[in-house]
Amino acid sequence: MIELASRLNRIVESNTLRMAKLSRELQAQGKDVINLSLGEPDFQTPQHIKDAAKKAIDDGFTFYTPVVGYLDLRQTISEKFKRENGLDYPADQIVVSTGAKQSIINVLLSLLNAGDEVIIPTPFWVSYSEMVKLSEGVPVYVHSNVTQDYKPTVSQIEAAITPKTKAFIFSSPCNPTGSVFTKDELYNIAKMFEKYPNIYIISDEIYEHINFIGKHESIGQFDFIKDRVITINGMSKGFAMTGWRLGYIGAPKIIAQACEKLQGQFTSGANSIAQRAALAALKGSLEPTIEMTKAFHRRRDLVLGLMKEIEGFKLNIPGGAFYVFPDVSSYFGKSDGTTIINNCEDLCMYILHNANVSIVGGDSFGAPECVRFSYATSDEKLVEAIKRIKEVLSKLK
Ligand code: PMP
Ligand code: GLU
Repeated sequence: MIELASRLNRIVESNTLRMAKLSRELQAQGKDVINLSLGEPDFQTPQHIKDAAKKAIDDGFTFYTPVVGYLDLRQTISEKFKRENGLDYPADQIVVSTGAKQSIINVLLSLLNAGDEVIIPTPFWVSYSEMVKLSEGVPVYVHSNVTQDYKPTVSQIEAAITPKTKAFIFSSPCNPTGSVFTKDELYNIAKMFEKYPNIYIISDEIYEHINFIGKHESIGQFDFIKDRVITINGMSKGFAMTGWRLGYIGAPKIIAQACEKLQGQFTSGANSIAQRAALAALKGSLEPTIEMTKAFHRRRDLVLGLMKEIEGFKLNIPGGAFYVFPDVSSYFGKSDGTTIINNCEDLCMYILHNANVSIVGGDSFGAPECVRFSYATSDEKLVEAIKRIKEVLSKLK
């Protein structure tokens, strides 16, 4: 019997990736499973980005890169932060990593000592809690629900602060709720944190481009807080580059240096070809991103329209990202005569096995009354999936 390290017992497997794996396995067995569990654009990476990667290979970008990423890429990210987000991070405060996922764990490992608390508004992206635990920190949840558009109030967040609070982490647009904080809301959160100079703010902005309600706003734009804000971003969502594994941060210099030290021992830096592709993406036209976002917007409306017809789903109107996150608790305690639905996990399994549609339970997002649908797939599949779901849910009494 192999005895694994006890740190493995502290965390659970990523539920988004577990459901995606399960639906791939069922598809391999020949089942017609529609996968609405994994959050990734169903679009191809734009051609000019692919071309830049091919050119990078031919031009010999095949060696180790600087641990923090190529200088010209970091300069381009610095300019992008300034131009698009009003953020001041010079190139020596930028660290490029193997996906935003690694960017986040780099930051948490750099900041947290055992027992340090990190405030996480729920619903949150599945990996925040587990990455905090891996870093020996303690997640402290601030709950919000569908009636408040899944956005906690400033006073709710402030009430969670203790002398052990080290950081606050959130995403806007939010995975899994699609909620988007307005500039005023971010200002009010920043103003509150101004009173607590030892707390760092980790702002995950990976869905910045997938925003249906206006300009993206960054919390790091406010001068009185900017020295404590770590901004997370990456190429996966806005540029349809999930497989390339390229993320980045802007951070206070000390934190950027700590991430460099860690990353130098973990990965030596992000893939050279992906870095050249990211450079082309950030310097190139945003037209493909805008077109993709239009498609997500249209699908959001399609999905919301169809889901309104499903009895018992309580929905917010997501302002961004590509998820809907209904409260489905009205189904708990119901049965089709064979299966009793006790919780969101039971409901996901019931839907997977009866409707052949894969979704993710809200418990791993800190919201056990909900389930998450990713609508980053074709209109035809969405229409078919929701039709099937409606049918099997109508059997629950
Ligand atoms: N943050 C959020 C909110 C996400 O949804 C994702 C998607 N996996 C990530 C970070 C990580 O993205 P990646 O590692 O693909 O850059
Ligand atoms: N961020 C995506 C999701 O939430 C990708 C899977 C993951 O990395 O968790 O589904």
